[in-house]
Amino acid sequence: MAGDRFIYRFVRDLRLDDHAGLNAAAARGAIVPVLIVDRALESRLTRSPRRAAFFCRAVAALDAELRERGSRLVVGRGPAGRAIKQVARDVGAAGVAWSAAYDGATMDADERLQSELEEAGLAATIVHDAPAIPPEETAAARSSAGQGYRAFAPYFEVWRELPVASHEHPLLVRFARTDASTEGLPQPEEFGARASGAGGGPEVARRVLERFLRESATRYAVAAAVPSDDGTSLLSAHLSFGAISARSAVTSVRERLEDPLLSSKERLSLRLFLRALARRDFFLQLGWFHPRSESESLQEKMRGFSFTRTHVALDAWRAGATGFPLVDAGIRQLRETGWMHPHVRAVAASFLCFDLGVDWRIGREEWDRLLVEDDPALATGNWQWIAGVGADMAQYPRIYNPERQRRRCDPDGAYVRRWVRELEGVSMAGWRGWAGDSPQLALDFSSPDGYPRPVVDHEAAARDFLKRYRAFVSA
Ligand SMILES: Cc1cc2nc3c(=O)[nH]c(=O)nc-3n(C[C@H](O)[C@H](O)[C@H](O)COP(=O)(O)OP(=O)(O)OC[C@H]3O[C@@H](n4cnc5c(N)ncnc54)[C@H](O)[C@@H]3O)c2cc1C
Repeated sequence: MAGDRFIYRFVRDLRLDDHAGLNAAAARGAIVPVLIVDRALESRLTRSPRRAAFFCRAVAALDAELRERGSRLVVGRGPAGRAIKQVARDVGAAGVAWSAAYDGATMDADERLQSELEEAGLAATIVHDAPAIPPEETAAARSSAGQGYRAFAPYFEVWRELPVASHEHPLLVRFARTDASTEGLPQPEEFGARASGAGGGPEVARRVLERFLRESATRYAVAAAVPSDDGTSLLSAHLSFGAISARSAVTSVRERLEDPLLSSKERLSLRLFLRALARRDFFLQLGWFHPRSESESLQEKMRGFSFTRTHVALDAWRAGATGFPLVDAGIRQLRETGWMHPHVRAVAASFLCFDLGVDWRIGREEWDRLLVEDDPALATGNWQWIAGVGADMAQYPRIYNPERQRRRCDPDGAYVRRWVRELEGVSMAGWRGWAGDSPQLALDFSSPDGYPRPVVDHEAAARDFLKRYRAFVSA
């Protein structure tokens, strides 16, 4: 009967547990679960084959969970409006709900879709599901609500005091039995990917979180700073496709923090991990309140600053062949696995923006082709932050010295040797002395196996960049 069915359109929220969007739809009727492969999704998946394979596994896992509940995914291909209206006609649904996006392009597309569906007489509801705490809740704690926060520190002050909602009401969520016509589940091959790689889906994501909490969360402070430790959560791809909710991650860590037997070091680690999750919410709210920052600098004063579009060493950076071992190790880790350690990301991105002076958007696009994660708002927020044009109130950009960083976070070379094959057999005593903090080009740095010489003199490049920066902001 028309009216007692409501479509839920899965986007980056591929799970059934603790689901704000599903809960909102369930209040309107029995749910018809829908997945639309439109041109935007197709292009994001085609761009990164690893992402496509991960997504397809997550979708298959979601469909299997739905089948256990007596339902199944109804898959449509083509423009979302057309596909949704077709399903609504087929099943007699009164409307559709889906979860909000936080990047400008998808937010615009969502707004257009909402109008199109409403004009067709369907209710169209967009729900915050991705952040642990929705943007409006943190913004409401500010005097000039509506603009959100541009700096992380005051945001975090508010965020950490707010409760996290639970949407864990499985019995309230009824799925409609439907024989609506459906296309096949998306397959990696249609996006140019092969069906290989690590698993995706809610069950895998839950295990990743549980294992992290059990084995390494209490030493996160070390893991976040030492890339060879392999102890960060590795949750980013799962969170980006919503195979697990950020709410359940935050709630589990907050519960863990209540253990009176934790040492102060363990407590510090758990707090740092909460801070990382808060940073995710922070960049999502930044995208939500400042959707134009996808293409232009958040900081008005930096909008006319000219980063270059190219550099003779740009391809070397892309390939992980800059002659700076930490930068190269990070890029090669990304190329081989679809993920890079968080601290090394900051150093490698800083190298592109400051040592080479290349536009942050070029770096974001390059990594977008390699990452499994599918989080444009987080990519933009982080790239702008590193480039000194986004959510950072510091007076000058923070330029990392890649060699000093290597000595600090990879003192025994374990990380570098793992990813930079040419340095595999190099003895520590040998390569400690190869590169100092200062003029890299003056160093005779070449290994028998052809590891490249540094492509720039870091000190000189950083000085040049700061000179241009100062001249620009004081003009
Ligand atoms: C230049 C640059 C680009 C980045 N691009 C992306 C991106 O495209 N997609 C993406 O998800 N993350 C991005 N990050 C953020 C961060 O590096 C990754 O989320 C992190 O490496 C994921 O590893 P993990 O899950 O083990 O993180 P953990 O250290 O275990 O952190 C737990 C979770 O907190 C969140 N988080 C941690 N740090 C950040 C951060 N700085 N910003 C936002 N969320 C954070 C992530 O969801 C992460 O999964 C980028 C960081 C930099 C410096």
